[in-house]
Amino acid sequence: MENCVFCKIIAREIPGHVLYEDNDVLVFLDISQTTKGHTLVVPKTHRKDVFEMEASEMEKLFSVVPKIARAMKTTFNCSGLNIINNNGELAGQTVFHYHVHLIPRYLDDRFKVLFVNNMAEYDGDALAALKDEIKRKLES
Ligand code: AMP
Ligand code: ZN
Repeated sequence: MENCVFCKIIAREIPGHVLYEDNDVLVFLDISQTTKGHTLVVPKTHRKDVFEMEASEMEKLFSVVPKIARAMKTTFNCSGLNIINNNGELAGQTVFHYHVHLIPRYLDDRFKVLFVNNMAEYDGDALAALKDEIKRKLES
């Protein structure tokens, strides 16, 4: 897609530090290196976000993730690894070509992931109502 920075990397119109490629997926270093080895996994077909991804495209994309993750662990000896995907501006997406971040974690890194705990606001009935709402949509 025109003016998509990741499509340009895929087409080799702009440089990228590509570490893995197959027919469907490209894996390259994230320019920001939020931690050492921060890498992006992208579908070669332009899809804006998870809402546009086909299940088969997702399967192909995630099928490469374990081997990339293991290579990071053995290369950098990271203590952990976050897999993150932002969908939509509100969720922090800034490049609108679907991508998964692989973020190796180190004892002294400054990367933060914060899950707020709102458990006090959702009793069993509230959770059941939420579940029913989503399930109805899944089954319709
Ligand atoms: P997100 O905020 O989840 O959409 O992530 C977009 C990511 O793309 C950011 O972490 C950027 O650092 C990264 N990025 C933007 N332009 C490039 C580029 N030319 N090469 C590699 N990574 C890029
Ligand atoms: Zn694109």
